[in-house]
Amino acid sequence: MTIKRNIWSLFYFVLMGGIFLFLVLSYSRYKDIEDDYHQKYRYFTGIISQSAHSRFAQDEFILEVLGIQLLTDKQYQDTMKTQKFFDDLLKKNPTLAGFGLVNTDGDFVSASSNVNLSKMPNLLKDSHTEESFKSALVSDKMVLGRTFYVAGMDEWVIMLYKSIRNTGGEVIGVLATGLILDHKNSFLNKMDLPDVSVFTIVKDFNAEGKMYRQFTNHADIELLTQEEVYDVPVPLEIYQAVGSNIKDKYGISMEDLKVSGETVSFELTDQWNRHLLMSLMFDETYQLWCLVQVDFSIVRETFMKSLVTYFFVFMLSFFIIFMLFKRIARLDKIKRDELLFQVMHDPLTQLPNRTYLYKHWEEMASHPSQNIDMLFIDLDNFKNINDGFGHRYGDAILVQVAQRLRSFFNEQSLVVRQGGDEFIILMPCHEENREQTLNKLIEFISQPYLIENIEFSIGLSIGTAQYPKDAQNIESLMSLADTAMFEAKKRKNVFCIFSSEMQSRNLRKVDIEHELRSGMKKDEFKMVYQPQINADGTVHGVEALIRWENARLGFVPPDQFISVAEDTGLMPKLGDFIIQRSLQEIYRLQSEMKMRFQLSINISVRQLIEIDFLDKLLNEIKICGLERSLITLEITENLFIEDIEDTLPLLMRIKEKGLGISLDDFGTGYSSLNILRRLPINELKIDKSFVDDILTVKEDSAMAKSIIEMGKNLSMHTLAEGVETIEQANLLREFDCDIFQGYYYSKPLSIDDLAKFFKAF
Ligand code: C2E
Ligand code: CA
Ligand code: CA
Repeated sequence: MTIKRNIWSLFYFVLMGGIFLFLVLSYSRYKDIEDDYHQKYRYFTGIISQSAHSRFAQDEFILEVLGIQLLTDKQYQDTMKTQKFFDDLLKKNPTLAGFGLVNTDGDFVSASSNVNLSKMPNLLKDSHTEESFKSALVSDKMVLGRTFYVAGMDEWVIMLYKSIRNTGGEVIGVLATGLILDHKNSFLNKMDLPDVSVFTIVKDFNAEGKMYRQFTNHADIELLTQEEVYDVPVPLEIYQAVGSNIKDKYGISMEDLKVSGETVSFELTDQWNRHLLMSLMFDETYQLWCLVQVDFSIVRETFMKSLVTYFFVFMLSFFIIFMLFKRIARLDKIKRDELLFQVMHDPLTQLPNRTYLYKHWEEMASHPSQNIDMLFIDLDNFKNINDGFGHRYGDAILVQVAQRLRSFFNEQSLVVRQGGDEFIILMPCHEENREQTLNKLIEFISQPYLIENIEFSIGLSIGTAQYPKDAQNIESLMSLADTAMFEAKKRKNVFCIFSSEMQSRNLRKVDIEHELRSGMKKDEFKMVYQPQINADGTVHGVEALIRWENARLGFVPPDQFISVAEDTGLMPKLGDFIIQRSLQEIYRLQSEMKMRFQLSINISVRQLIEIDFLDKLLNEIKICGLERSLITLEITENLFIEDIEDTLPLLMRIKEKGLGISLDDFGTGYSSLNILRRLPINELKIDKSFVDDILTVKEDSAMAKSIIEMGKNLSMHTLAEGVETIEQANLLREFDCDIFQGYYYSKPLSIDDLAKFFKAF
């Protein structure tokens, strides 16, 4: 979950970063485009200004040469000659509308033949010409006059004046010409400018403080009529607005700009509310402002065009990144699912494991109406297969068992491998046919398994507990089902349904375990001894038996607490006590009474499997001083159920050291004659259960008889325990039993009572 969230938050982080980058890039791109346009339009302005300048310089040169020619030999006085000059010159300069010579009073003296002199105004009197003509009279340079419609030439022209002076420097007259204002073919129109741009040439303030346009290209002529363009001065507000823009951007005044000759560019909103990009330059020679402007939207449009590309690239990258993330997230999910499966399942059988069980428990238990049966299954004798044939076979059987289990239960049930050869099943509880189901299950699972041509038979012990009747949570339910399984295990290949008695027994077990620990510290244990009598009536020996009187639980019989001690790991310690105490007490008694008799000590399997058991025992015997040949260890058959090969060497060593070995409770277990033959045993102890009914039940007496015969054959002596009556003793003696033990002779006695018993014997 967290990884998934992380991947997507990383994606959003990248997305945000990308958007930020996109915005920054777009912004810088916008600035670049804006700068480009500014630069471009400043460049245009320079070109236009340059080109206008050279055009006027060329015209000035023509007028200058013309003046010099007219002055030579005072030819200007000859009107016809002058006109011819004018006409010749006009042919060579078709962009000029005509030439004229004006006297200092402002009247035309002569003109090229195309000029209708009668329609030409007096230049000193006409408002279009008065101001510039006056300045031409005092200047020795060419002066630009206003642009206006000249009726005598029938053209819109830019008037140009140049005074001619005699050698004394006195003004003789003024040469005038008109540069045709042809918007289509004008010299200025040849510029390679984008059609959207407008350029305008404006003469700087005249003596009257007015500014008139000299020329503008066509682009925005629709907003003004031609008369308005050239006859109405440029509004002062525009000049001021431009001035303050330049001041803001460049920190210089218009006067500074005139002197510097630099090209500037800026943005401005004009009187028609158009947002414009403007570029401006001043030509000092002819006192001309050269202005180029373009609607600022061109910048935005250009930007939008590149933005579309940017946006497309951005979206594409993000689509790719998104797909990449999606793929990662998907792979991650697959991996997580796999991992989850691994965590939740057993790798060998692919069954859900305990982790899964816990996780799904809540789900199953969340249906309150639903009663659930838990089955705790343990395979019988599985260890033998594992040990005898190897784990390969063991694993193969587990896999097949798992398959059978899965096929046996429907999908409402959960089959879990709890570990080893243990399985747990949760299934809906149907009390009425539960036993039937369990029997069927046992039959189904215990059918033979064929693995690599070897047939295996396997049994199973099942314990069941019910939710919510027996337990409300999974842990206690498991422990109860396990307890029931343990019960079943005693008989094998059966099921056992958990009962409340089992529970109280269990509780008592817990109680016992708790008290055992403290009891051992508080010295609550003591030993008693039950005499064993030979067939001839002499004393053979005693069997040491432990007794426990607990402060809280009262007298606890050994059958109850020995198994608890075994299950909880307390047995070795308790065993040490038993050995030490009985060795000491019996040695003292034998020394005091100057008697020699056998001492039998019960040894639990748990003690026997301790590595140092024998060494410790021998050491204790040495310390106390009792003869080794007087000591017999009583062991039970269940020692051989699992692995005889492991215990045999130990038993051999015990025998080598001169200790006796007695096989306790003989006849109740599984020991075969074969095994018995290999064991280094001195004594067979006929179990009390055969002795009990030896007089009434035929099979029991037959059993007792054959055990005794078997013992004879294997040269072991036989001991009958639990002899309570003389009749039992007599019959056993008839069967040739060697030794007798039981209430008929004596109950187990404390060491003091044992001394009394022997004295009275
Ligand atoms: P076990 O080894 O078979 O001990 C014989 C049991 O039979 C003893 O019970 C004894 O008191 C009882 N018994 C002997 N003769 C008669 C008789 O004529 N009638 C009746 N009704 N019972 C008789 P106890 O002492 O209660 O011990 C029970 C079991 O507890 C023992 O069975 C043994 O397995 C275990 N146990 C007792 N003491 C020790 C011990 O010191 N070490 C170990 N490992 N186990 C012990
Ligand atoms: Ca015994
Ligand atoms: Ca016994």
